[in-house]
Formats: sequence, C-alpha cells, structure tokens
Amino acid sequence: MDKILLIEDEKNVSSFIRKGLEEQGYEVSVASDGLSGWNLARTGRYDLLVIDRMLPEMDGLEICRRVREKYGFEVPVLILTALGSTDDVVAGLETGADDYLTKPFHFRELLARVHALVRRRRRPEEPRIYRIADLELDDDSKTVVRAGRSIQLTSKEYRLLYYFITNQKRVLSREQILEKVWDVEFDMGTNTVDVYINYLRNKIDKPFASRLIHTVIGMGYVMREE
Ligand code: CA
Repeated sequence: MDKILLIEDEKNVSSFIRKGLEEQGYEVSVASDGLSGWNLARTGRYDLLVIDRMLPEMDGLEICRRVREKYGFEVPVLILTALGSTDDVVAGLETGADDYLTKPFHFRELLARVHALVRRRRRPEEPRIYRIADLELDDDSKTVVRAGRSIQLTSKEYRLLYYFITNQKRVLSREQILEKVWDVEFDMGTNTVDVYINYLRNKIDKPFASRLIHTVIGMGYVMREE
C-alpha cells in the first residue's frame, strides 16, 4: 500500500483529502503543523508528501527544502497553495517541489496528480528484489529466502536487513542504522542495534555456511560476501 503524508493545518481540508485518498486505497498520515510534519517526513517512510504552503511552525517550502537535502529527489512532493501567484509557484519549484495545486481544487485534480507522482516513484522497471550471495529479499512480497529456505523475520529485523542489503559493502555506523531503521533519534542507546543485529544474524547467517553481516570494530557493521 502506498503511503502518503499530508501536512495541512486546515482540519476540514485535511480530513476531506484524507478520506478521499483512503477510499482510493492509499495509507494516509496527517500532520497539522510544519514541525510535526517535518518530523514525520524525515523518517523517509512515505511514497509521496502532500504539503500545504502556509503552515504554522515551519513553512511548507522549508519542509520541501529539508526533504530534498536529506533524500534528494527520491520522494515526490506536491505543494498545495492558496496563493496562486507566479512568484509562489516559482519559489516552490525552485525548492524542489514536483508539482503544485492551487486551492480550492476538485478532489479529482488532486487525485490525478497523486496517482502520477506515486507511479513515477514506483518505476516498475526498478528491481524490488535484492540479492547477496544466496540470500534474496523480495520487497514486493516482503519475503526473505536464503539457500532456498524461507526465513521469517520480524518487521524490525526485515527493515534492518533491507537497509543492509540496499547498502552492500558500505560500513554503516550504529547511529546511521538507528536513524534509518528506528526512524527517530530518541535516546535508545546504540546497543539496541547490536541486540537486533544479533537476532538477525541468528536467522540469516548462523544456520548457513558463510556470513554476510560483519562487524567492523570501532566503526559499525557491513554487509558483504566473505
Ligand atoms: Ca495553511
């Protein structure tokens, strides 16, 4: 299910959009101010961000700028604005918004843009199956197989493995792993990472002939073939 984050401070507008998008099968999260919106957006969990231009606490364009800084153009952004001026549109596009919609709009106009942006992100030719050695992760079916054996992972272990397999040969620090897999930078302590890596190793490495997750002393962990 594609996930959309809607950052909109007008409650009637956000509930109207949310309801409509949910009816179309999207999973919608709503934030009603800029700061809490950014805190959700920065988790990188969403397939599309729909951001109102004028928001309390943090401006919509500032959120867009920060998203671009953190994720490049990986996540599409649609800006909603009540101001239809050319300057405003230019400012938004310069900040890296993919598309614009001026309020008031018909829901079907929004929907057409949402479909197009989510489809563009999905790019069906992009592989959703990742491999290393004899291990395969299929991100469409969320399944993991090693040496022909299906492996059951918890959602946290899955996300950890996904992060490793999409960053093979890169040494990942505990802090990076914590931020990517646990989303938020709360004071959980990096030993949580060690604990979960141990769980994951017990499932994907220990029962097999070769190890894929390696400890890099003083640095973190790396996934590579031995
Ligand atoms: Ca607003």
